[in-house]
This record gives sequence, structure tokens and C-alpha cells, in this order.
Amino acid sequence: MINESYKEMLGKKSVIRQLSEFATERGKEIGYENVFDYSLGNPSVPVCPEFTEAMIKMLKEENPMALHGYSPSLGNPEFKQAVADSLNKRFGMNYKASDIFPTSGAAGAIAHALRAVTKPGDDVIVFAPFFPEYIPYVTGTGANIKVVPADTEAFQINFDKFLEMMTPNVKAVLINTPNNPTGIVYSEATIKKLSDILKDKSKEYGFNIYLISDEPYREILFDGVECPYPSKYYDYTLSCYSFSKSLSLPGERIGYVAANPADPDSATIVNMCGQISRGTGHNCPASIIQQATAKVIDMTSDLSVYERNMNILYKELTSLDFKVVKPGGTFYIFPKALEEDSIAFCNKAKNYDLILVPADSFACPGYFRMAYCIDTEKVERSIKALRKFVETEYPNR
Ligand code: PLP
Repeated sequence: MINESYKEMLGKKSVIRQLSEFATERGKEIGYENVFDYSLGNPSVPVCPEFTEAMIKMLKEENPMALHGYSPSLGNPEFKQAVADSLNKRFGMNYKASDIFPTSGAAGAIAHALRAVTKPGDDVIVFAPFFPEYIPYVTGTGANIKVVPADTEAFQINFDKFLEMMTPNVKAVLINTPNNPTGIVYSEATIKKLSDILKDKSKEYGFNIYLISDEPYREILFDGVECPYPSKYYDYTLSCYSFSKSLSLPGERIGYVAANPADPDSATIVNMCGQISRGTGHNCPASIIQQATAKVIDMTSDLSVYERNMNILYKELTSLDFKVVKPGGTFYIFPKALEEDSIAFCNKAKNYDLILVPADSFACPGYFRMAYCIDTEKVERSIKALRKFVETEYPNR
């Protein structure tokens, strides 16, 4: 008998994917270069050449039996050490290789982290607006997802609502900074306040509440904005990283969980990730990708295009009277729609070949997301369409 709950998921296709498919179809009619597709968070710059060179060199020179052999079940030691050294150097941490668990992207990292610190029936708190895939990541473990409403003024954390929602059934809190979909970076004050609350509540409830920190955009920061490293502030943090965005490697599925060594259970958690991996059939990212990534651990793609695109869009959106908080990083911007119904707003935009994502699926209706990981030339050309759309549909905004 087939599993009804997965079958039910088939009917709930991702809105972002649907819009991206619409953009592809429309592109067949008018040429994809004429569709201003702001739907998908797919990096638009190539991986750094050092990664490609490392791959070629390994393929040419290394023993294929060793190169393509199974990775140890807790990950390639060279990769784990490179990650630990890099995090220690950059954020003043004390990770050892044994605190790092390689995963298939941030998706794999979050899936492991959640399973390591929750059991079916527990609650996991997330903050709106949030990456919609958090729903299957959390509910797939048997835990319940509890959504704290957005702080729509600054897109930091709505602490009053958060405190109201804290109960002893909350075993983990999942954050994402820099944030998809808002582009906002949590300030140090936000991270400190969050960690103080988690410390107090952990004491009150008599167990450690885990902070799962999803950080795939950590390297995409604008105009000198700094992104505080959450694990530095709260020991019971599982940092979930992905090289998908910083190195433009989304198809290679490489990331990790870093368990803070100040947590006495960090080594146990990494070992448990190995067991979770066995149960889910994850069994480590490809060996060769772990090894190649280790060789370029502190490098990124040329990420400057994202800031350039953000500045063009931010200037244009504000001049068109959109309410929008300036992003501190990522490749997303999150303006308020010009009518209450953001789905209707984004549907109208389609008539101008502008593909915008309504924020209903990010649990923040009334807003929309633009993923500006596209060529600057296209962003510039899209401005005319954006102006025409707004001036025609909302002349009295
Ligand atoms: N978390 C956030 C906030 C994301 O935006 C994404 C991907 O877009 C992921 C996690 C998953 O990352 P990956 O594709 O590297 O697994």
C-alpha cells in the first residue's frame, strides 16, 4: 500500500517551482531573455576556477580506487578538518574535525540536525517569513512546526510572540540569517536576545533547547554588514551550512552540520548524525566533492553581482513607493505588495513578464520576494517592465 502522507504532498507543489516552470514556458513563447524571472534562488555566477582545477587535478592524478571509494561514514577527514579550521579562524570557535558532519547541502544538514535533537510530537519554532521547505524538513521528522508571526517593521524577530509561544514542548528553534526571503541579517542584539531567552527557558524547563542555525547565505553580505555567528552566542547551536550559494555549487549537494564543542553532547550529536544518515540512506555527500571543497574552503564565487542587483532594485522599488527593508545580504528582496492580496499582485505582474513570488508561501501574506540572482543587464531591462506594471495597475498607490 502506498504512503498516503507522501501522496498528499504531491498535490502541494512548491509555488516557487510552479512560477519558475511558468517562466520557462513563457520563455519558449517570447524568448527567455524577455522574461524577468525573479522566482528561483539559483546562483547566477560560476564556481571559482580553483574548484574546477582541483576536480580536474584529482581526476587526472589520484588513485581512482581511493578517489571514488566510500567516504568514511562520518565524512572525509580532510573536509571536516578544513571546515573546522575555517570556522575557528573566522569566528573564534574551537571546532575539531569530529564536530563536523558533512551533508548534502543545507537541506541535508537541517534534516540531520532536526532528527538529532527532536522526537516525533516535539515542537520546532520557526520565524515568519521562512523558507517553505522548512515545513517538510520539520514535519518529515514527526515534529510539529510552530510559526512565530513576522516582525514586518525590520524583519528581525518578533520576540513578544516568540515568548508567548515558548512551551516545554519546544525542543528546537530554527533560524535563518542572512534570511531567505527577506535578505535581512539578524543584528547582534537580536542574536544576543534570542540566546538569552534560550538560556533562560532551557534552565526553566530543565533541558537544553537547541538552536538550529541555517546559514547558506553567510558569505553573501552587502556594504560592510556583518553577520554574527549564532553559535558564538549560544553553545547549543547546530550550524547548518551549504556551499550551494557561496561557491555556486547547488547541484553538487555539499554542506555540513557543525556542533558547538562547548556542548558536552557535540561529539555524540555528530556520531548520531552518522546513525541518522544510515536510517535515511543519506550516507555522506560524494567523496570527490568533499575533497575538492576542502581545497577551496575559504573561497567564494565572485558574489559582487548580487549587491549590484540589489542596489538597482532597492532604488527602483523605493522610488515606486514600495515599502521595503534594505537587504544586508543574500540575493533576495522582500517588498510589501501594492495590494493586500499578494497572490493577485504577483498574478498581475505576470502580464508584464515579471515573475514575482507571493509571500503567502513564506507565511507572510501581503509581501512578495524577488530573487535577483540573474544578470545585471536583465535586472536593468526589467525596470521598464516594473515601472509599467506599477504605473498601469496601481496609478493611485
Ligand atoms: N535554507 C535556505 C534558507 C535556503 O534558501 C536553501 C536553498 O535555497 C536551503 C536551506 C537548502 O540549501 P541546499 O540547496 O544547499 O540544500
